[in-house]
Amino acid sequence: MNASETGYRDWSNLTNLLDLPPQQWPMYFKEMLGVPAFHGKNAARWVFRRNAYSWQDMTDLPAQLRERLSEKMPLLTSTLVKVSHADDGACKILLRHSDDALVEAVGMPGTKGRTLCVSTQVGCAVKCVFCASGLDGVQRNLSAGEILQQVLWLRREQGDFHRLVVMGMGEPGHNLDATLQALDCLMHEEGFQFAARRITLSTVAPRGTLPQLAEWGRQISVAISLHAAVDEVRHELVPGVAKRTLLDTLQEADQLFFATGREYTVEYVLLRDRNDQPEHAKELAKLLQDRRCHVNLIPYNPVPELPFERPSSETMDEFVHTLHDAGLSVTLRTSLGGNQDAACGQLRRRTTSPPSGSEVV
Ligand code: SAH
Repeated sequence: MNASETGYRDWSNLTNLLDLPPQQWPMYFKEMLGVPAFHGKNAARWVFRRNAYSWQDMTDLPAQLRERLSEKMPLLTSTLVKVSHADDGACKILLRHSDDALVEAVGMPGTKGRTLCVSTQVGCAVKCVFCASGLDGVQRNLSAGEILQQVLWLRREQGDFHRLVVMGMGEPGHNLDATLQALDCLMHEEGFQFAARRITLSTVAPRGTLPQLAEWGRQISVAISLHAAVDEVRHELVPGVAKRTLLDTLQEADQLFFATGREYTVEYVLLRDRNDQPEHAKELAKLLQDRRCHVNLIPYNPVPELPFERPSSETMDEFVHTLHDAGLSVTLRTSLGGNQDAACGQLRRRTTSPPSGSEVV
């Protein structure tokens, strides 16, 4: 078997081994490093199962090999530039890559263990009007290895985790191949061996995203960021999908349900006077009637630069009840990390646009 047969075509240009699926590490060690393949299998085990964060940590790998790898390609190609802790236990980290790209990821406490929230892009092109991630547009996609590095850094800071959500900066649908490669590594036998059902991917569902997820077929949860029940309002709030109708989107979501047997979640950020009124709830109930979904209402998390407000608790409760009375399954999310730049893209913005009050490590 050579490199092209394994799917990764250009091993000579590889600068981060985390960009290579773990099942290909043995072949890489044999073909590119000229050492027995089992060292590659062992190294993957160290990274994904035995909490190693550098080649030097892998004490039963030959010293010379560890040296060579450390020189050739560090395991982690990003540095941890900030860690900020919120009173509710959420921990947000900021990573810097060699091109100065800044990436944020969050670990949040939960009843069964921690939930990690990872980013897929630096910035975002969708520009949801209430979100900090897209304020400066998109800088670049993250590679699969760069997505996985967020998991490794958070695990190093906080230990094991129970759930993983792809809900950080960026639109996964605009970087789907790398995102799915990272998720494959999370789930793979030679990777983290993490259960598919503990993973949620959130997307505005750009054209092609849901069909690709259906074809991929893994049992992850998919959350679709709708935020409106009529096209005009959705296109205002989510300009990046202005060419797509809600009906197209939901028909693809229904196809995803038929392909995987998994109900999807509809996400809806509640913004005062924009999409929080009783008529909005009735429109949403009508749109989602008879669809195999659950509705997750998200109270707007204020972004200093933006003019929106969170609705009152009474308004939000009424919204919940309208959907509930229409027979929908609905939850109102409690935000975590709200006092520490926890909404998407906020920590990065505070770092790129000083002054920053966060702790520097
Ligand atoms: N690009 C993906 C992942 C984004 S983050 C997506 O849009 O689904 C996950 C959720 O957080 C999305 O539903 C997003 O709309 C929401 N979100 C973004 N900014 C927010 C804010 N300021 N307050 C509350 N929710 C927000």
